[in-house]
Amino acid sequence: MKVCASANNLFAGIMQPLSSTVRKHNLSELGSSRFDVLVIGGGITGAGVALDAAARGYKVALVEKEDFASGTSSKSTKLVHGGIRYLPNFDFALVHEGLVERGILLQNAPFLVHPLAFVLPIYHGDRHPVGMPFTTPGGIGLSMILDIGLWIYDLMAGKGGIKHHSHLSRQAVLRYAPDLISEQLKDGFVYYDAQTHDARLTMAVIRTAAQYGATITNYTEVTSFLMENERICGAWVRDALNGEEVCVQARHVINATGVFSERVEALEGGTPQVQVEPSKGVHLVLSREDIRLTDAAIVLPETEDKRILFLVPWGSRVIFGTTDTGSGDLDHPGASPEDVAYLLKYLNRYFSLNLTREQIVSTYVGYRPLFKPSAQAHRSTARLSRTHAVLQNASGLVTIVGGKLTTYRRMAQDTVDLLNRRDGTKPRHPTMTLPLEGSAAWPEAQVELEQRGTALCLRAETISHLANSYGSEAQKVLDLIEGDASLARPLVADLPYIYAEIIAACRYEMAMTLYDVLARRTSIMLEDRQRGLGIVEEVAACMAQEHDWSRAQQMALVEAYRADIQGQLASETVPLATLEGIVNLSIRDEI
Ligand SMILES: Cc1cc2nc3c(=O)[nH]c(=O)nc-3n(C[C@H](O)[C@H](O)[C@H](O)COP(=O)(O)OP(=O)(O)OC[C@H]3O[C@@H](n4cnc5c(N)ncnc54)[C@H](O)[C@@H]3O)c2cc1C
Repeated sequence: MKVCASANNLFAGIMQPLSSTVRKHNLSELGSSRFDVLVIGGGITGAGVALDAAARGYKVALVEKEDFASGTSSKSTKLVHGGIRYLPNFDFALVHEGLVERGILLQNAPFLVHPLAFVLPIYHGDRHPVGMPFTTPGGIGLSMILDIGLWIYDLMAGKGGIKHHSHLSRQAVLRYAPDLISEQLKDGFVYYDAQTHDARLTMAVIRTAAQYGATITNYTEVTSFLMENERICGAWVRDALNGEEVCVQARHVINATGVFSERVEALEGGTPQVQVEPSKGVHLVLSREDIRLTDAAIVLPETEDKRILFLVPWGSRVIFGTTDTGSGDLDHPGASPEDVAYLLKYLNRYFSLNLTREQIVSTYVGYRPLFKPSAQAHRSTARLSRTHAVLQNASGLVTIVGGKLTTYRRMAQDTVDLLNRRDGTKPRHPTMTLPLEGSAAWPEAQVELEQRGTALCLRAETISHLANSYGSEAQKVLDLIEGDASLARPLVADLPYIYAEIIAACRYEMAMTLYDVLARRTSIMLEDRQRGLGIVEEVAACMAQEHDWSRAQQMALVEAYRADIQGQLASETVPLATLEGIVNLSIRDEI
């Protein structure tokens, strides 16, 4: 096994990692070096594999066809959890794995992963709370069954436990959520899990992998594989920003492309062994002004299709979801009017609010990368397992599929263990205790940030947002403000984001398009009622200086962003069939 060449580290030493200049360097490195591991896919799974392999000393490349976390990894409920709803199915191994990983993430990314209380209200007449597959006569003993389930949940977390659950009286439940419908409300429970920001978590893993020497590029798509004696030994990669093709050579090739795994495996020409059964999940983003909540999430205990729905506080907003329906256009996931109606129906069933479409701040949609072992061929996606599988085919292509955001580290570890076995080397597991970038000396670093942010006259919510997004790396954002105080201006009046973050995204996080900044480095697209349309020109002007865009390029990107958002808005109210022309417009076509 080659040990990771230090050239990339040296390069990173003289230039900020993940700037657009580094992207250019990395593209030429992709074509000129021979790698130990090529990872395809820059979602949380690919990012995790790149970090794990780099931390074990492999020379690693990662290519992502769009932006990091642009797939499912920015569309989750943003929970780091074992998943109480898997308990009634006796999926204990899955729950245990999630809880162990939750504990590891709370340690390794303390600025990004935070404990969160979940209130589970119980109503007279509930028959299948948290997806219970059986019914007790008249609901007798339900509370006891839930209590036992939550004890098991607490115990399975072991050393990584947050806090034990407790029973809540009816009044206590209503103190957590005063707008909950009180009629028939019996009592409830509070239990503990954790919350993160999925796209920022992916970015933190990507940045840490880059620190460990991984060569990483976004907007680079694998279009075909390189074969030698019927063994896979690399891939052709197309730079989506200039159309150039690069040939990347690698001893091991990892397919970490989530719902695209089957499609990517098929590039080899044979019949893919991976069978992905994507399942669409839609979330609504609402304003906290419209729903009175404390800092605890609320679990809506049951739906007719035996799901549970989460109402999760998220900064000044609330996330509500999710649906679990079949497949659709994987490249352009969209919320349909029916999805929105389904979610509003349950929200208004449990909350005396009468919320309407007009109160929805935004929606977002993703596909779960569920895989389908043939024995489960005809089961509903809500019942397919969330476990992961590491598969290798005859040519040696390794595919890692399934899993959850929470379990990305374990998925990566299992994948790289396979590479160690292939190479005859002893597996070791450095990521068990490896802090993600930004975690160094937390929480002392947090105190320093607060002091410096206050001295720079930043609003308290901005300081706390910077800390929760970048950890100790937020000092770089503050450095920018120290150089130019105007960069402390807020981007949107009621949100904590500031101008300096646009520059930081370009210089330190490889933001190449308006979408990258508005939807993933920040979440303005989700949190702003105008979905970023009100500031898109200013963001473009700022990015144009960083990337040297011409006026025409800048305007084309603004128009593409506008068209995309208008397509999104239209799909939520108009049947999809009438929208084809609009939803197929993509920002990438304009670059
Ligand atoms: C609605 C919903 C809610 C969820 N909530 C939670 C939750 O609260 N907690 C939790 O733990 N999990 C949750 N999950 C699951 C979790 O989000 C996913 O398991 C995880 O994000 C999948 O990550 P991934 O990297 O495997 O896939 P993705 O994030 O989709 O990444 C795959 C990447 O591969 C890239 N790619 C595809 N083809 C190519 C190619 N040819 N060349 C280069 N790149 C390519 C894609 O562009 C994409 O970025 C949720 C999922 C959904 C859908």
